Amino acid sequence: MEYIFTPEKIPSVSINGTDMLFPVHRIYCVGQNYSAHVREMGGDPKRYSPVFFSKPANAIVVDKQTVKYPQSTNDLHHEVELVVALAAGGEAIAVEAALDCVYGYAVGIDFTRRDLQAEAKSKGWPWDVAKGFDESAPISAINPLTNSKHPRQARIRLWVNDKIRQDADVAEMIWTVPEIISALSKFYALKAGDLIYTGTPAGVSAVNVGDHLKAEIDGIGELEFDIV
Ligand code: MN
Repeated sequence: MEYIFTPEKIPSVSINGTDMLFPVHRIYCVGQNYSAHVREMGGDPKRYSPVFFSKPANAIVVDKQTVKYPQSTNDLHHEVELVVALAAGGEAIAVEAALDCVYGYAVGIDFTRRDLQAEAKSKGWPWDVAKGFDESAPISAINPLTNSKHPRQARIRLWVNDKIRQDADVAEMIWTVPEIISALSKFYALKAGDLIYTGTPAGVSAVNVGDHLKAEIDGIGELEFDIV
């Protein structure tokens, strides 16, 4: 049987050191994973379990020098995050086995329509329109583990117009990468091709048309583009 129209291409991410692409299956995200950011959002970092939400796979932005300012917001926030790329998955993965699923790491931005998120939080609505919109998930090339180690410590930074806005270390994450993979796999069957945005440190703020953003995680990668 043939498709009634040509389907969209599978979203994919380039990989350092090879011409081959990483095909994206799903994008999962972790909320409230750095204490200082939880506090800046008015929350209590002593939570019982990680907060998860997701974005469509085609929300990624790769190899582009521009990101379009989305519609229906006046408060678009940057959230720089360590992104985990999976080469394997499963259900109910043990913490001890979780790192065996990892293909590599990247730096990404979880763009958030903060005004819509605040409304959703106040009304008990889902976060989808605040988080899962078009071009909401820029990502760098993936740094495969064949090139590098698991980043237990690495400086994570974001600049807007060369002014530093976020500056932290991935070692400050409340939930570690293996704990996140294990917890997430109790809700979803994880698969090769899944990306996990692991939460943002403090310093989130609004961006506007004309701003130049740069994000970097030492030893992992960097990302640079303009908001148009
Ligand atoms: Mn986030």
